[in-house]
Amino acid sequence: MDSNKTKVLIIGAGPAGYTAAIYASRANLSPIQIEGLQPGGQLTTTTEVENFPGNPEGMTGPEMMDGIREQALRFDTDIRTGLVTGIDLSKRPYVAEINDGEYSITADTVIIATGASAKYLGLPSEGEYMGMGVSACATCDGFFYRGKKVAVVGGGDTACEEALYLAGIAEKVYMIVRRDELRASKVMQERVLNNEKIEVLWKHQTEELFGEGGVEGAHLVVNKGEEDEKHVDISIDGFFLAIGHTPNTSFLKGQLETDDKGYLVTENGTPRTKVPGVFAAGDVADPVYRQAVTAAGSGCKAALEAERFLLHED
Ligand SMILES: Cc1cc2nc3c(=O)[nH]c(=O)nc-3n(C[C@H](O)[C@H](O)[C@H](O)COP(=O)(O)OP(=O)(O)OC[C@H]3O[C@@H](n4cnc5c(N)ncnc54)[C@H](O)[C@@H]3O)c2cc1C
Repeated sequence: MDSNKTKVLIIGAGPAGYTAAIYASRANLSPIQIEGLQPGGQLTTTTEVENFPGNPEGMTGPEMMDGIREQALRFDTDIRTGLVTGIDLSKRPYVAEINDGEYSITADTVIIATGASAKYLGLPSEGEYMGMGVSACATCDGFFYRGKKVAVVGGGDTACEEALYLAGIAEKVYMIVRRDELRASKVMQERVLNNEKIEVLWKHQTEELFGEGGVEGAHLVVNKGEEDEKHVDISIDGFFLAIGHTPNTSFLKGQLETDDKGYLVTENGTPRTKVPGVFAAGDVADPVYRQAVTAAGSGCKAALEAERFLLHED
């Protein structure tokens, strides 16, 4: 077979993509997998992962992803370095362009597992303290802040959810809100405002984080640009961003349906998109859970769907 033709093309190499690769290769479908700019995905940017089943002692994100990659290679997945820069989903077989036209891959089915990137404020100190106090996932990292002080940035439903989650763990939660109101639903607003551990800092914005070897506090500006603008510091151990995610779908150029936040839309509870033989797995199609284990689960589902699709076609 032409080395650039495949029954299953997997785009992305996080928990969803590698799990899809393990299942598709064990089903003898000889998948090709394109890893993108971040082989291993988002977990390569974190230290401890304590909530992935099967690792009682926990392990680092990179270690865990190396292991899942090894497992995909064990069954002969053709894992390739490169970026999918375009794809034609208008007719089958589908054709994906790699590295701006360097070569193309023809595929009978496609599994899109390109993840979603958290939005950050763009402060130099965010990068400096990444994994040392800065996080974009309370479910993932909240546990490390038991009895400590944290801040959540954002004023929407997700920020309220993160603040409430953290309030169950931390001693104190500041919500840093740019406006003088929350954009969250009424119910969420009430829960936040009635929670005695949460203090909402209205009309505050973060200027920079500070600390020796980890976050110890944040410099904030209040009423920015107004006559009574002033600067205050808060003392915190953790700084959680909750200002949204950007699903990585630009290479699709609008060929698949997305929701209002850009997440790929799939049929209820399945990874099926509206295009036959094209499946979406992991964070790229999940505005709600965004966990390694849920991404891996949907990668498994996508590979099983691809297998069934090919079976019924023959
Ligand atoms: C700092 C941090 C800590 C976290 N901690 C935990 C935790 O403790 N437990 C937990 O369960 N979850 C955690 N998460 C969330 C978890 O990492 C994600 O839910 C999970 O990685 C999603 O997997 P995914 O496979 O959908 O996508 P990702 O892991 O985002 O992987 C996406 C993949 O797609 C590739 N890609 C993107 N665009 C292209 C393209 N055009 N062409 C080819 N490839 C492309 C990328 O290179 C990457 O390999 C954490 C996230 C972060 C950021």
